Amino acid sequence: MNNSKIVVGGVEKFSAVDFPGVLSAVVFMQGCPWKCPYCHNASIREILKENSFSWEKFVDFLRKRVGRLDAVTFSGGEPLVQDCLGDAIKEVKELGFKIGLHTGGYRPEHLAKILPLVDWVGLDIKAPFDEAKYQAIIRVNHLKKVEDSLDLLLQWGGDFECRTTCDPRFLSIEDLWVIAKTLKEKGVKKYFLQKYRPVESDKTSTDDMCERLVSDSGLLKYLQENFENFEVRK
Ligand code: SF4
Repeated sequence: MNNSKIVVGGVEKFSAVDFPGVLSAVVFMQGCPWKCPYCHNASIREILKENSFSWEKFVDFLRKRVGRLDAVTFSGGEPLVQDCLGDAIKEVKELGFKIGLHTGGYRPEHLAKILPLVDWVGLDIKAPFDEAKYQAIIRVNHLKKVEDSLDLLLQWGGDFECRTTCDPRFLSIEDLWVIAKTLKEKGVKKYFLQKYRPVESDKTSTDDMCERLVSDSGLLKYLQENFENFEVRK
């Protein structure tokens, strides 16, 4: 991808949940290379699609929020799709805001350049580290990128969390055990399970099925005992 202008897909002016413990504005970067079946942001998946949101207007808004908001979270879509993400982050940092980043681990080489500018990262772990399982969700074979991104975060030493959206159509409790043990072995300290909220096209998943996946007592006990921070987000 080669783009010289940041493309914004949407904005949330105030959020208490996207950067843990911090009040942030959220900017949704346009474009995502993946096709997760549980995506609630389908409208911003098309890469570099023009729309009515303007980066300049967002920065103007931030100037008026200096001292009233602590941070800006770059979310998606997939922020690492955009080549000039680093310039956008620098512009926001110069206003005095902390920086949060949500990513699925796409383009680790880009992540490596961005990390020195970032205060906190939320990394999606979509499946066990098994090519077929990962590909079943994101529909392309990008597992190596995710593994390399996680290794970068572990070496970085900054604050980050891993999280998994628990979609019962693609993940079982056994899969969640595999993910949890892998992350534990690698040295991840913060891990969160996110209850899946069925998308409109999903006519099969019931609330019971979604709830069961985030309520297994043996798994929850393991997660509580083995991660410094763990919780189920519903
Ligand atoms: S990574 Fe996020 S934005 Fe991209 S398809 Fe998956 S859920 Fe949607």
